[in-house]
Amino acid sequence: MAPTRTSSSMESTLLSVRLKAQIARIGPISVERYMDVCLADTKAGYYPSKQPIGAAGDFITAPEVSQMFGELLGLWAYAVWQSMGSPSPVILAELGPGRGTLMADALRALRRLPGFLDSAKVALVETSPPLRQAQEQALADCGADVSWHEAIETVPGGPAIVIANEFIDALPIRQLVWRDGQWRERCVTIAANGGFAFCEGGSLPVENLRRNAELKQLPNGSILEVRPAANAVVAALAERAKDAPLAALIIDYGHEATECGDTLQAISRHKFANPLEAPGNVDLTAHVDFGALKDAARNNGLLAFGPKPQRALLMDLGLEARLDRLCEDAGPEQCEALVAGAERLVDPAAMGVLFKALAITSKDLPPPPAFQDNA
Ligand code: SAH
Repeated sequence: MAPTRTSSSMESTLLSVRLKAQIARIGPISVERYMDVCLADTKAGYYPSKQPIGAAGDFITAPEVSQMFGELLGLWAYAVWQSMGSPSPVILAELGPGRGTLMADALRALRRLPGFLDSAKVALVETSPPLRQAQEQALADCGADVSWHEAIETVPGGPAIVIANEFIDALPIRQLVWRDGQWRERCVTIAANGGFAFCEGGSLPVENLRRNAELKQLPNGSILEVRPAANAVVAALAERAKDAPLAALIIDYGHEATECGDTLQAISRHKFANPLEAPGNVDLTAHVDFGALKDAARNNGLLAFGPKPQRALLMDLGLEARLDRLCEDAGPEQCEALVAGAERLVDPAAMGVLFKALAITSKDLPPPPAFQDNA
């Protein structure tokens, strides 16, 4: 019998054909457009058509490694709420909640604290139908009022606490290539062998680029990544903060300051893959530039604290005490698993240092918990 195609490889093929037809018609497309279509196409895009997270998927995230991650972020949210004067109602929003694990763990911790859940309205910003379904299941018995939104802009106004773990790295990047004294858009075209290949588009106006003078000393071929969609998220947070207190915690992998380099990568089944192969079938991601996020926050009239390594964030929020507490009620095997999970979150060779946390708040709030030294 002839081998049958799996539906996901069929969709990927269709997406490839569609992208190639588009390139044949209009010429090379930007890396940003390529990444956007591969990740977000409503039919064949990676997030709308896959269950990417977990051992059986393509990658593992911190909330899937340990329940303590979400629990500690729940405690963070509680302390921030108190610093706002315990407003009611308060929005607890999460951007890109994946399987809903972080929010389920956070709400379990918050249930034990007085007042918060009576006041909280949970708002999940998620575009992927299969992941929305997973979130509905994870939060079925959470006891909170939960609503889903396509974008942060449609979350109701009022005081808000926003959490985003590994959300920004899933937003498309532009790649700009420095060549002969000019910036050029890095694009995707069709190679002689019929596959996709990178190429460089025409020169770009340079006025709006950060640290332009400094970057002009770069060697030919240097790549600078910018992420307009992340700046739009920060601008939307700033818009909310005009009318009500706001605190956001953004956790992701990336670098502290703007640096040059090509960080676009594809991940499939927990391994690196070629970003130009199997569009829509593999995860595309790129480092988060925390320096650029911080500048965007400040330029929009918000306060920004950090970034600090995930290790320091979780230790400051009481990871060790929480681990001790959980181990008191656990058998030896369960306790070993809890310790292994905690270690993976904070180990500098695992997620402890590459992953960083940035806090963004409205101007009326004090530095949030774990960021008092980063003011
Ligand atoms: N925070 C989760 C999942 C990270 S994966 C965790 O830590 O496990 C990225 C998440 O962002 C997924 O839920 C994906 O569907 C969602 N996502 C990606 N692009 C999005 C967009 N433009 N708007 C809303 N959600 C998006």
